[in-house]
Amino acid sequence: MSATASAVSWRALGPHVRPHRRVLAAGALLGLLGSGAALAQPLAAQSVIEALQERESVLTPIVVLSALVVVGALLTGTYLLLLERTAERIVLRARLGLAARMLRLRVPAIDRQSPGDLITRMTSDTTLLRAAASNGVVQLVNGAVGLLGAIVLMAVVDWVLLLVTLGVLGTIAFGVLVLLPRISRATERGQAAVGEIGSVLERSLAAVRTVKASGAEARETAAIEDAARRSYGAGLELARHQAVLGVATGLAIQVSFLAVLGVGGARVADGAMDVAALVAFLLYLFYLAEPVSGLVQAGIELQAGLGALARLDATEELPVEDDVETPADSVLESAIAAGPAPGVPLISFARVAFAYGDERAPVLHDVSFSVPEGGQTALVGPSGAGKTTLFALLQRFYEPTGGAVLLGGRDISTIPRGTLRRSIGSVEQDAPVLAGTLRDNLLYGAPGASGAELAEVVAETRLEELVAQLPEGLDSEIASRGTSLSGGERQRIAIARALLRRPRILLLDEATSQLDARNEMALRDTIARAARRCTVLVIAHRLSTVVAADQIVVLDAGRVRAAGTHAELVEHDALYRELAMTQLLAGPAG
Ligand code: ADP
Ligand code: MG
Repeated sequence: MSATASAVSWRALGPHVRPHRRVLAAGALLGLLGSGAALAQPLAAQSVIEALQERESVLTPIVVLSALVVVGALLTGTYLLLLERTAERIVLRARLGLAARMLRLRVPAIDRQSPGDLITRMTSDTTLLRAAASNGVVQLVNGAVGLLGAIVLMAVVDWVLLLVTLGVLGTIAFGVLVLLPRISRATERGQAAVGEIGSVLERSLAAVRTVKASGAEARETAAIEDAARRSYGAGLELARHQAVLGVATGLAIQVSFLAVLGVGGARVADGAMDVAALVAFLLYLFYLAEPVSGLVQAGIELQAGLGALARLDATEELPVEDDVETPADSVLESAIAAGPAPGVPLISFARVAFAYGDERAPVLHDVSFSVPEGGQTALVGPSGAGKTTLFALLQRFYEPTGGAVLLGGRDISTIPRGTLRRSIGSVEQDAPVLAGTLRDNLLYGAPGASGAELAEVVAETRLEELVAQLPEGLDSEIASRGTSLSGGERQRIAIARALLRRPRILLLDEATSQLDARNEMALRDTIARAARRCTVLVIAHRLSTVVAADQIVVLDAGRVRAAGTHAELVEHDALYRELAMTQLLAGPAG
């Protein structure tokens, strides 16, 4: 499901255009003056010729003519530059707005979006907006200036004929206004299809090995082709509307011509006007063709821009993480770092309930347990029990639907997410290696950490051997070699990355894949050392982890089933016994 708004209105342009209204008005004025200078040139030329005929000095008329040419060119150039610059600014502002929102979107909102589609909004939709803001506005201003100029001149020649012309043009303009919204809707549809191309492509490239291994290239390609065809269909529809509008504009001018000819002929016959005036009027009518079709083009461009804008504005309605951190929060952060008051647990889950969406089945029911300060707490349970979800709630990626998560006795929904997350180091189950060097990877969460801190954590996570092996040590690029690192190494890199943030709490979602005995020992040792600096909450898949834990919480189908030490649970809890003895907690060789 992607966010699309179907109600497109001119009003949507407001927030984008309003900051530039002065510049646009100045631009329009320059455009008007430029046109004026251009219109005055024939008169100046005439006076040059007259001066030549009268054998008078041609210097003054030539200077005037040259000045008109130069000033006209300068005015028009400045006007175009101003409008283009404004167009670029409108796009820049839209892109900056999107950029600022993208990574602040709340996790549930991101879950529902397709990354490929969001990327399209940032790139392709903003480009359409640019076309509307430059071409569209230039044509609008030119058209309006031309139209006004012609109307004034026509009014001077003959009022009645002007009314006839406006009557015909007005009728056609009404038809155009009816057709224009279809253009924005077709554009929106076309852009949604382009977004879909992006999302299919993004999905299939991200899993390219699976796609190829499953022989699914043709199916993925078909999905892209399907979206491409829909974009083509929308493009054709746009072309049809444009063609109709183009023909209608031409027709409008021709019908006005005939009407003026008829009415004007009658007026000439009645002696109400002379033939010269009728001819002049008809000539002006031909001049009118250009501004009128310019205005129609402007309408088309602006409507296409509105279609793109609807998609851009739709992202504005997605909820963002909008907590504001105040100086009080740094006091709070220090308080968290100092530890809870005596007798208060560091973390408490208090009757927590949670579902990943209103229509979805709850995945946590009435979960209550506490994690004391220091030491290690292990979470165990079958796959799908809700362990990873508990970590997500603790980091406020999602908000519980019932109960509360407390940190040092304080409901975390009252702690700004930034403050909260600075207190927590998190290691995901399949912790990604990021593009860059090993050093970049380690310092990702703590760019300011010192060399000594880095060395300390490298030693603590037993990464020294890896660093020694890599050709350029910490500065070796590991992105393309991410897969050549062992699972244990990747996990320890992720732990080091988390520890460098000097967190109060380390959340560790243990990888389920087997580690060899060496890596398993290294991991054990790493966790034990980490537990000396912070409270460790680990989702355990290894016997060695639970045996070392001070407290084990057994989760099953979203409920806490039991809690205790390994020895207690082995004795009292059948599920734990089963987990401990079978697959999940089997030893490294199992
Ligand atoms: P565990 O880590 O114990 O294996 P999880 O916390 O990952 O379990 O998942 C608990 C339940 O929530 C599962 O049924 C899973 O399918 C569902 N779930 C997990 N993440 C999401 C998500 N982002 N959206 C919807 N359902 C989810
Ligand atoms: Mg999990």
